[in-house]
This record gives sequence, C-alpha cells and structure tokens, in this order.
Amino acid sequence: MTEKEKKLFCIIGYPVAHSLSPVMQNSAFGKKKINAQYYIFSSKDLKNTLKFLKQMNFSGFNITMPFKQDIIKYAYKKSIEVKKLGATNTALIKNKKLFLYNTDYYAAKKLLGKYKLKNKKALVIGAGGAANAIVLALKELGAKVFVTNRTFPKAKKLAKKFKVKTIKKSEAEKEEFYLIANATPMGMGPLKEKLPCTRKLIEKAHLVYESIYNPVETEFLKEARRNNCRCITGIDMLLEQGYKAFELFTDKKAPEKEMRKAIEKEIKKN
Ligand code: NAP
Repeated sequence: MTEKEKKLFCIIGYPVAHSLSPVMQNSAFGKKKINAQYYIFSSKDLKNTLKFLKQMNFSGFNITMPFKQDIIKYAYKKSIEVKKLGATNTALIKNKKLFLYNTDYYAAKKLLGKYKLKNKKALVIGAGGAANAIVLALKELGAKVFVTNRTFPKAKKLAKKFKVKTIKKSEAEKEEFYLIANATPMGMGPLKEKLPCTRKLIEKAHLVYESIYNPVETEFLKEARRNNCRCITGIDMLLEQGYKAFELFTDKKAPEKEMRKAIEKEIKKN
C-alpha cells in the first residue's frame, strides 16, 4: 500500500496533548498491519477543524472536551446512543459526511453487563459526560439507579432525562448500594487523595466502577479492594471505548492484548 492510501485518524479537542488514544490506536494498527496513522489534533475551533479533516480525507476521529456536545449539530447520522445521550466521542467521515457514536457508553454497558445488576441499587456520583454514559448503561441493564452530584440541579436534570432517581450525598450515606460508580475527578490530579464518597459506603458495596485512569489505582479502588469489592477500573473503561472505536474505524476486531500492553507501558512512563 502506498503512503497515499494511508488512512488518517485523530483525536480532536483542547486540552488533548496528553491523550492516550494515539498510543492505543497506533499499536492496534501496527499489530493488525493496517496502513493507518492516528494523530493528536489540538484545537479550540471546531468548525475549521472539521473542514480541515474533511479536506485532508481523514477517515475518522475521537472527540474530547469541549466538543462532545457541540459537534452533534454537524452530524449526518447519529447512533441511537448519541441521540439518547446528546454527546459523542467517536466519528467516522464517509463521503465528507459525519457519522457519530458514543463508545464511552459501549464501554460502560459491556463492562457492567458482566454482572447481574437487574434490580440492584446503583449509585452514580457525577452528572457529566461519563456519568450520562454510565447511567444509561445501568438503566438498560435494569439496575435501580440513583444519581448524586456536587451541583445537585445537574443530577436532577440527568435523572429526569433517563427516568432514574436522585439522592443527596448525606442521604446516600444511610443507604446500601450494590454498585458505586465514580464519574468525577475525585481521585486524580490535585484531588488524588480524595474519595468520591465515604469509606462506610464503600464497605457496604459489592462492586465499584472507577472512571479515572490516571492514577491507575485511585484511593477509591484501593479502598474497594481492601473491602474485597469487585472493581471495574478507569483503564478498563478507557480500553473498552478504544476497542470499540478501533472496530468502528477499521471494521476489524480490536487486538485487545496489544492495546492494553501499549497503554500500561505508556502509563508506567508517566
Ligand atoms: P465532566 O463532564 O466535566 O463532568 C465532571 C463531573 O465531576 C461533574 O459532575 C462535576 O460536578 C464533577 N466534579 C468536578 N469537580 C469536582 C469536585 N472537585 N468535587 C466533586 N465533583 C466534582 O467530565 P467527564 O467527562 O464526565 O469526566 C469525569 C471523570 O471521568 C474524569 O475523571 C474523566 O477523566 C473520567 N473519564 C474517563 C473515561 C475513561 O475512558 N476511563 C472516559 C470519560 C471520562 P459539577 O456538576 O458540580 O461541576
């Protein structure tokens, strides 16, 4: 295959410089011997970025902050989950037209779908993009979902959208949840030492879902493991959404082991 035939992919957003998607997707292209390259495209200007990607014949891209919602108005076709969530993280370009997907939702549904959650009580902490994807997945899996959030009206809005319940943090402490999902930055960066909820609540849980992937082992996961709680990690989520994006990009099964190895190696470097 010539350089001319090389398929181009990227992640767009701002800030995006530290994205792990290029490492993950390029390792997969290498393993599957696909003539493609995945780049980082840092931009605050969505309209011109899309124009450029179409002109340069990009085949697809991932989308991160701040474009996950704004890009929807440029869609030619949206998947059902994009329609339900009002957010996207993966796009294909076919004949200069945009086809949008949400692989965060696929990741949450696949990871949580491994457990029997029908009628089990689940607490989702957060009301942003990740929380939306997790709530929709849990709702579809038949869990009894409760949402809490620092800014409570946002929890209410999310709960209304998916017909689930809200609960104040102080009230949640008195309850027992089979599953607790963290969809906030409580546990990363300057909040590295923080837990998204009390230890007492984690003690009562059977399963936790962490969205944060850096650090790999957050305080939330450490506390859950100390209590013999089963854990779905942020790395699991990052990888699952990446596998699905790769499959959309290439129509081929993702080389999962290779992608996990590449991500783990990259994280160890930091
Ligand atoms: P987002 O849309 O900006 O939402 C952030 C959420 O966190 C909001 O509910 C916000 O509450 C809450 N929050 C922010 N700072 C807080 C603080 N200091 N204390 C308590 N709550 C706080 O972000 P997102 O895209 O959903 O991402 C949320 C987390 O998931 C991030 O850690 C991100 O890295 C992770 N994530 C991981 C993956 C993966 O593949 N593993 C994918 C997507 C996201 P307010 O409404 O009060 O602001």
